[in-house]
Amino acid sequence: MEKSNENVEAFGWAARDTSGVLSPFNFSRRVTGEKDVQFKVMYCGICHSDLHQIKNEWSNSIYPMVPGHEVVGVVTEVGSKVERFKTGDKVGVGCLVGSCRKCENCDNDLENYCPDQIMTYNGVYTDGTPTYGGYSDIMVTNEHYVVHWPENLRMEAAPLLCAGITTYSPLRHYGLDKPGMHIGVVGLGGLGHMAVKFAKAFGTKVTVISTSASKRDEAMDRLGADSFLVSRDPDQMQGAAGSLDGIIDTVSAIHPLLPLINLLKTHGKLVMVGAPEKPLELPVFPLLLGGKLVAGSAIGGMKETQEMVDFAGKHNITPDIEVVSMDYVNTALERLLKSDVKYRFVLDIGNTLKKN
Ligand SMILES: [Zn+2]
Ligand SMILES: [Zn+2]
Repeated sequence: MEKSNENVEAFGWAARDTSGVLSPFNFSRRVTGEKDVQFKVMYCGICHSDLHQIKNEWSNSIYPMVPGHEVVGVVTEVGSKVERFKTGDKVGVGCLVGSCRKCENCDNDLENYCPDQIMTYNGVYTDGTPTYGGYSDIMVTNEHYVVHWPENLRMEAAPLLCAGITTYSPLRHYGLDKPGMHIGVVGLGGLGHMAVKFAKAFGTKVTVISTSASKRDEAMDRLGADSFLVSRDPDQMQGAAGSLDGIIDTVSAIHPLLPLINLLKTHGKLVMVGAPEKPLELPVFPLLLGGKLVAGSAIGGMKETQEMVDFAGKHNITPDIEVVSMDYVNTALERLLKSDVKYRFVLDIGNTLKKN
């Protein structure tokens, strides 16, 4: 591939304003640097956080914005000092494309908690340019933030890179990955369904907790959960009190924590991975009396992300997805808003992104 100091032409779909509508967008990527990997994007998941940022619901949006942080592709060029990748490798990029590399978190493979982390899109790179995500034909990423994609894992399983690691990491970090444990998963969407799959693969018993009884069949038949609780049914919840070693709570709407805390055994752990916009009420007495823990977790570090995709490859864990063409993206976003997808849309960028 020809080298030059000019930027590289790129093409994707971008949000231009808060309307929530994306449209085709010509832009440029940096030339592949010494430590950079350039790759052709094949698939990119649509994450719920894309929707928030496209519409500036977190008040930090930079337009034009090319979203996408669940990106899988094939390497087209590597920089002279790249050690871990070569042309033709299958690779993945998740939520991060940079961090300071010198703080305590970075030293401990916790780039996801680095205060100077650089988000894959809607961020600003070290060279001052905006970062653009995976709703585009090519990406150029420092190799430290690129993972090897296992040969046997379908590239369509791109949502592992956000939804997958977001649920894998707390199960591992909080020791909720021991065979025989009993784990609760609250909410059955993009995150929740991955939590069920990982928890089952770790050999734990899994109970799905949902406001809606209609999700019982999905949870148990489709995803293999062992049991199901309707959180609005006080009798069911009381019957399961003190039965869970840990809970992964994926709900981002305001919801009561007390019924969940009551489900925990002594020293049980309630880990929040959803992001409600307003503070939740935390009842402290039940925590004290059961020696219980309420915690949070956000994505995962690069080392752990590699470990997660390797684990997914080994155990054949993939998200349940609906693969759609690039020009379907606006419809997909509308449907996502209505939770009308099981459980993640994935854009088939490689076959359907056409320059026009
Ligand atoms: Zn995401
Ligand atoms: Zn750092």
